[in-house]
Parts: sequence; C-alpha cells; structure tokens
Amino acid sequence: MNQAGVNQAGVNQAGPAAVFWDMDGTLLDSEPIWDIAMSDFAVRHGIVMSPALREQTLGSALLDAMDVVYHAAEIALPDRDVSGDARWLLDHVGELFDVGLPWRPGAPEALDLLATASIPLVLVTNTVRELTEVALQTIGADRFVATVCGDEVSAGKPAPDPYLRAAAIVGQHPAACLAVEDSPTGAAAATAAGCPTLVVPSAAPVAPGALRRFRPTLAGLGLADFADAWTGQTTGHPDVQR
Ligand SMILES: [Mg+2]
Repeated sequence: MNQAGVNQAGVNQAGPAAVFWDMDGTLLDSEPIWDIAMSDFAVRHGIVMSPALREQTLGSALLDAMDVVYHAAEIALPDRDVSGDARWLLDHVGELFDVGLPWRPGAPEALDLLATASIPLVLVTNTVRELTEVALQTIGADRFVATVCGDEVSAGKPAPDPYLRAAAIVGQHPAACLAVEDSPTGAAAATAAGCPTLVVPSAAPVAPGALRRFRPTLAGLGLADFADAWTGQTTGHPDVQR
C-alpha cells in the first residue's frame, strides 16, 4: 500500500467508486436457511451433511453445491437428476425464504450510509435470480443500480465473472470498487476479479490476502471504514480475522 486514496492499481480517489454486495451471509443471515436446505438435500440422497461438507458448499452456486453432495453420496453422473433436484432445492429454499429472512447486523444501516454518499451499489450473488427476487423483497431492489445473479454469468463464484460483470455495469475498473463478502468462495471471486474486499466472516473463516480487510461485523461501520477497506489501510479498527 502506498498513500491514502491510491490503491494497488493506482486508482486515485478518496473511496470506492462502487460497492458490490454479496447477499447470503453478508447482507442476510440466510446461511442458516441454506444449512437446512442443503442438509435436507443430503438426506434426500442418503447421506448426512457434515460440517466439513457444508463448508464446501458455502457461498457456492447451486449446481456446484449440488455437485458436492452428489460426489459425497457417490452418485454417478448418469444417475443424477440435476434439473429435478435443482427444482426441488429451489422450491425448498424459496419456502424457507418466505418464512422470513433476517438481516445481518448493521447491514441495512451500511446500505443506507453508502446511499447517502451517492455510492452506487450492486448486489453480486451466486444465488439464482428466482430466489434473489424473493430475498430482494426484504432487502429492497431499489437500493441497487443492478443485481448480478449466479445463473446470469457463465461461471459463478469463486470465478471472477460475477464481479467483472458488476464492474462492467457500473463502468469502473474492478480495482476502483469494493466488494463485501463473508465466505471463502465469495472472497476468492472478488480477489480473482481484482476487487479490494471488506470481509465480514459469518459461517466459515476466510484466509487473509493482500486485497482483503477484515471486520467482525458491519455494525457501526462509517464511510471511513469502507474507504479504508478499499485503500487497504487498517486505521480506525484492528484488522480482525476469524
Ligand atoms: Mg455469502
């Protein structure tokens, strides 16, 4: 890191040009819902979802998460009903989302704060459009200039595609933007895209990295915290990792 306002790519500005938000586990406390759904999916295929197995699915695109279970259950490719299983899983998660989706601590306040600073926000999620639309009824679709869903890119997180798409939408270099993520998969995608990332871990620890700054929660963060996360500075708060 060189000086304040100049990040690794040499983009000279006071703060991020846009902020890209992961949804599950970052804005919404929806990972417990995915816990239930993926556990039920595993049982449906004759296995028990272990914590290690669940961690492999965390933050993954739907088909990638299903692959983890298929592999663990030793279900051969010709024996997989991928479309039928995807439909079952989407319906199941949709029912659970409908019951209620709690915010993560400080998430709505953080969105409001950035909106008052006129910083464009993009939702960047591995969750498919159909379920994202259900979740947006809680979050508020009008908070975002765009939403990028897992079924709208050729490769979901941990590939960089969702974040590259978001950067293209706002017309900015990924290095000029800040990603906010909670999972190893999501942080890997942001790093691969070259986005500085504010990591607020939820269900699994995230490895440190040059583009990553850690906070234990979104609660109480100010604009300076988002700017510091983007520039890579650690002033203001200790760089806490889980
Ligand atoms: Mg997440």
